Amino acid sequence: MEILVIGAGVGGLAVSRALLAAGHRVRVYEQAPARRTGGKALLVWSNGNAVLNDLGISLDGVGARIDRIDAMTDDGRLRTSMDIAHAAGRFGFATQAIPRRHLLERLGDGLPDDLVRYGTSCQGVSQDDDRVTVTFSDGSTATGDLLVGADGHHSAVRRHLWGDGSVQPATFGTWQGLSPIDIDLTGTHRHLMITGPEGACGLMPAGDGLLQWWFDVRWSPTDPRPAAPLAELRRRFGRWASPVPEVLAAATEDDLEFFGHHWNKVRPVWGEGRITLVGDAAHTMPPTLGQGANQTLEDAWVLGRELARGGDPAVRLRAYEKARYPHISLVSRLAKRNPANWRIPPLLGRLIPETSQTGMLARFSNRLTTPAVRSA
Ligand SMILES: Cc1cc2nc3c(=O)[nH]c(=O)nc-3n(C[C@H](O)[C@H](O)[C@H](O)COP(=O)(O)OP(=O)(O)OC[C@H]3O[C@@H](n4cnc5c(N)ncnc54)[C@H](O)[C@@H]3O)c2cc1C
Repeated sequence: MEILVIGAGVGGLAVSRALLAAGHRVRVYEQAPARRTGGKALLVWSNGNAVLNDLGISLDGVGARIDRIDAMTDDGRLRTSMDIAHAAGRFGFATQAIPRRHLLERLGDGLPDDLVRYGTSCQGVSQDDDRVTVTFSDGSTATGDLLVGADGHHSAVRRHLWGDGSVQPATFGTWQGLSPIDIDLTGTHRHLMITGPEGACGLMPAGDGLLQWWFDVRWSPTDPRPAAPLAELRRRFGRWASPVPEVLAAATEDDLEFFGHHWNKVRPVWGEGRITLVGDAAHTMPPTLGQGANQTLEDAWVLGRELARGGDPAVRLRAYEKARYPHISLVSRLAKRNPANWRIPPLLGRLIPETSQTGMLARFSNRLTTPAVRSA
């Protein structure tokens, strides 16, 4: 089949790999003028890493393996600790923090040079019983057998399917940076999550001497931007226990990026006819669980498998959506909650043995993962 993909982000590149491997002809249209080289780091969990492996992609040599997540109070007490290495051993794939540009490079490695047409923005979509047509901002059109909208949280393809207004602002946003911060944590495989009355802070080694650091704060789209955000973060979080003050002292305004988060209720059927969606286009959510890109990779993998089965393509697209719905709707509902509210009392963390906590994490991760990905 001839398949059109809108967007060359994580989902668009992953789905293209899966579809090309199954023998389809694929054309990708991306609004950006060239492949994205910026962006901060992402946490690729065992489920995402399993999909990457099946798509022929290794994360060896980039980023940093994460073996443990410690949840802390703002005054430095341990709430709970999760042995990610143990869970990774059970699933067979490590959890890795990796700068987004490296992930996009690895997803693009080996794909045909002319696969992606950059600088091409999808404006309109139409379909009949046999074909789908996309109209671009320069007035040109493309026609194919199927269309995959992988165009992220402002998706034009989703707007065509669902209309306006389906994506709502969440209650919080993230100030984040990825920079060389010379503290002990940067050279480890330990990820810290710290919560207190002022918000939440995450610190995650991302390889090459880089630390990914972020601060989640309450946010609404009508809030004015602070004139000096770093000074505001220092005022708000500067009294927290080490290493938060050291990170804030080493950070610069240039490192900072802000994301106000959004969320949509996942629909049991999110496509129509010969059109479907993958990734944030279908399930925009805050990064509370660090699962957005991982679930996007699962989408790409399941869609690739469904379309390799042949038969009526519209039926296969609905089967893909049905297989993904229970998992992605659970992840999405959990991710909607502000991480600053996830406050496990330190005493409870000490009372539940670490092996039980790790077992709970493994069972929870299983529920987030599509069964076919688990058994692949
Ligand atoms: C602060 C933050 C931290 C995050 N951390 C994590 C994490 O640790 N782990 C994790 O798994 N996920 C994380 N995520 C979520 C993750 O970034 C997304 O879920 C993931 O990138 C979704 O991939 P996608 O392909 O759907 O969208 P994107 O990666 O956004 O790609 C969409 C692409 O479509 C293109 N496009 C858009 N509109 C058009 C158009 N009209 N025509 C043509 N092209 C178009 C865009 O330019 C872009 O290249 C985080 C997100 C944020 C904001």
